[in-house]
Amino acid sequence: MKLRIAVAKYGQETNSFSLGRTTLDTFRQFGLYQGVEVLQEGMKTGPLAGLEAACRDCDFAWTPIPMIRGWGGASGIITEYTHQFFVNSICDSLANSQKLDAVFLDLHGAAQAEHLDDCEGDIISRSRTLVGPEVPIVVALDHHANVTELMCRDATAIVAHRTQPHEPFDTGYQAGLILIKHLTGAIKSTMTYRKIPMLTHQEQFLTGTEGPMKRWFEMARAFERRGDILSVSPCPMQPWLDITEAGWAVIVVTDDDLKLAKSVADEMAEFAWEHRKHFMRQESVDPKTAVQMALQSEQFVVLSDTGDSVFGGAPGDSTILLRELMQVQCEQDCLVPMVDAEVVANAYEAGVDSGIRIIVGGKLDSVFSQPVEMECEVLRLGGGTVEVEVIGNDAYDAGRSALLRSQHILLAVTETEGIGGNHPICYEQFGIDVGRAKLAVLKTASNFQYYSHFNPQIIRADTDGMTMSSVQRFPWKRLTRPIFPLDEM
Ligand SMILES: [Zn+2]
Repeated sequence: MKLRIAVAKYGQETNSFSLGRTTLDTFRQFGLYQGVEVLQEGMKTGPLAGLEAACRDCDFAWTPIPMIRGWGGASGIITEYTHQFFVNSICDSLANSQKLDAVFLDLHGAAQAEHLDDCEGDIISRSRTLVGPEVPIVVALDHHANVTELMCRDATAIVAHRTQPHEPFDTGYQAGLILIKHLTGAIKSTMTYRKIPMLTHQEQFLTGTEGPMKRWFEMARAFERRGDILSVSPCPMQPWLDITEAGWAVIVVTDDDLKLAKSVADEMAEFAWEHRKHFMRQESVDPKTAVQMALQSEQFVVLSDTGDSVFGGAPGDSTILLRELMQVQCEQDCLVPMVDAEVVANAYEAGVDSGIRIIVGGKLDSVFSQPVEMECEVLRLGGGTVEVEVIGNDAYDAGRSALLRSQHILLAVTETEGIGGNHPICYEQFGIDVGRAKLAVLKTASNFQYYSHFNPQIIRADTDGMTMSSVQRFPWKRLTRPIFPLDEM
């Protein structure tokens, strides 16, 4: 007999300080599917694909009951209407379905709506109310989640990403294995969590490079290898979520052993707290120095715009590095992504090969950067849906796009933020040979993986913006204090 498992994806990482709002249109940029479309289009990558693979590898016969699939990237607070759209879709599916054996939710964990701080807790608890206490609800999260009491109260098991850069497929696979073992009676999933009163900037977030994050995640894997612990998920929350319950956490899942789960959670939390200052070590340098270092490098350079990370919810239109690059001479191309719908419209109106004078950037984030005036040549026009596997998705749509040149600067301008130049496809779609450029500005502080085959030197610029490393400078209002590093502890 095939077991019936209801599946849904609702993912968005909220930046509380971002000025924009996240709507259903934001989700449509990365593919928003309902009902049977979820099976056709929404299970090719990410945790849902991982769940499917786990079932296949375990010879576990199941029928996925599709609900909804939406990914909104990282952006501002979700509108009440948008969150309610997902709630209604999931609740209607659960309420109208025939008997269900389980629910599998692929969520982010740091989504905030206008009327609600804990979008994922809301989804999980509403699901619990509808399916009753016995049906397992297993959840895959991004580990930059803000783990809450409500999520842990009503989920049967939660597994977060095991690496940064993330491998969402693996997260779904691990969560799937726990669900299968629980459904077949091999285990009785038991979960606990610990909050840690800290938040840190993203510069130490990579789990593969030497540093405290690598050690913390290795500690989690070592616990799992012991055999008596099913899953340990360290969750270093993304540092721009201004809600009362915000902060780091760790989640532990065992086979019916709450005492063991609690002691492992305590040990994991202690490590994070003891190394808190190490997690705050900053490597970025001021923008002028960063550009000078890049020009002097023998290698291709990834120049990370840490303050304007579109994967952290910043708008992707900061001009701080563009201004610095305009001040220097360079024989090779410098690739710069920019979000500016007005400039795209200007370029389309003028047409390919024409010269235009633009006032670009600094419009969405007018707090930390200002528009720049430039004379450019329109090299190419394009855009639309781009099929590429990036951060757990298989396509994105940043609207219309234009490639402009101003001396050594190649500006890829898009109507919306999309993936912020964080994948070479942003230039390759226009026929640019990225490996021949001097540098590429990336709108991320840690997702450099799509450029790794160019063997780049990574230089982080300490730029001001909605995702800046100086977390102390954000206008925190609702965060529960005291918290490290904002307060004396
Ligand atoms: Zn993440």
